[in-house]
Amino acid sequence: MELLLQGGTALLPDGGATRCDVYISGDSIRSLDGAPADARGFRTLNCSGMVIVPGLVNAHTHAYMTALRCCGDDLPFDRWLFRRVMPLEERMTPEQAKYSTLLGCMEMLQGGVTAFLDMHMFPHAVAEAVDISGMKAVLSRGLSGGEDDPQGGARRIREALEEVDFLQGHPRISCMLGPHAPYSCGEAYLREIADLAGERGLRLHTHLAESKGETETVRARYGCSPVEFYDRCGILRPDTVAAHCVQLGEADIAILAERGVAVALNCASNLKLRNGTAPAAALREAGIPLCLGTDGAASNNSLSMLREMGLCALLNGDFSARDCLRMATAGGAAALGLADTGAIAVGMRADIAVFDLSGAAQQPVYDPAATLVYAAAGLTARHVLVDGVPLLEDGAFQTIDAERVLFEARRIGIAYEEILKEDAYV
Ligand SMILES: [Zn+2]
Repeated sequence: MELLLQGGTALLPDGGATRCDVYISGDSIRSLDGAPADARGFRTLNCSGMVIVPGLVNAHTHAYMTALRCCGDDLPFDRWLFRRVMPLEERMTPEQAKYSTLLGCMEMLQGGVTAFLDMHMFPHAVAEAVDISGMKAVLSRGLSGGEDDPQGGARRIREALEEVDFLQGHPRISCMLGPHAPYSCGEAYLREIADLAGERGLRLHTHLAESKGETETVRARYGCSPVEFYDRCGILRPDTVAAHCVQLGEADIAILAERGVAVALNCASNLKLRNGTAPAAALREAGIPLCLGTDGAASNNSLSMLREMGLCALLNGDFSARDCLRMATAGGAAALGLADTGAIAVGMRADIAVFDLSGAAQQPVYDPAATLVYAAAGLTARHVLVDGVPLLEDGAFQTIDAERVLFEARRIGIAYEEILKEDAYV
């Protein structure tokens, strides 16, 4: 497909902004100067007065949990997890997981997200939803297990490898192995996963050093920090993506840097669950690649990467709007291993979000990058393209049956409300 994004202002990799007409041929950006003279029969999307940015990359989320948004707010952490999130998660059917993931895809597309790194419990349902959406994703079947649950752990690894094989060669979806966390995986189990990653050439995606409780648990069990524990199990490999990384000492940061781990910051989720703020400046200082993620809607409660960029800038005085935008685009693309994406430049894949900044909450615009990061948290994208294919055009979904997904989401909400009325969960 040939497509012209006409009349917008593109944010460029060098931090500049320029008026341009982006011409897309097939899956890539061919020109920033409009259609070539011999171009025929291309479609035009009006972008006048709008800002054109690389598609945002959500580098850590759980899209199947989107239907758990606001299912148990303002509760102490234990009640939120054990009486709200887990009972619903355990009873979620694959069909509900599919629609919950599609709901997440809708929200992410409206927020200008083109790719995400996902940890989930529903291999076929999540992959099916992502396939329908047209988005790019790297999927990780969450792996937990150890001495107290050897069969469950083995089954989860089996499911993960089946998913890896099933998605082999998919043009937009790939996999990482997903050890859940240092407190939910035993030592031998983690070593097994690290060995598998080496044998199969798979990268790893995990939660790490999220809470003080995690640090206490790991210290009591193994006599070291969560980072040190992961390191001795072989989980900290080049290109491992570790989400959170809030509770870190200096030695932990040095280990992460030495091993080549990328860190996905999850600012809103960490604040919501009272876990604090990751030492982003120290991580950057150590040369650790950084990207941004929303985590799941149960602990955020939004999948907005626009809000995530703004929070990151507000929480970390040393990070400018452009730093945050870079982490949410090129940084995320690198962490996910996506080739040729994350910048508006000739030859790059046409993974693009277009935002209209003409509204009252954004005007006037002095610097489109600053407006996007600091004044656009609730804004929805006008157009979103993945590999040159419009998935959201003039605000309308092109691949997802939005009415059906919203209907199913309401049905899930009604069913879950009944579950939460049961004595055990009140
Ligand atoms: Zn998470």
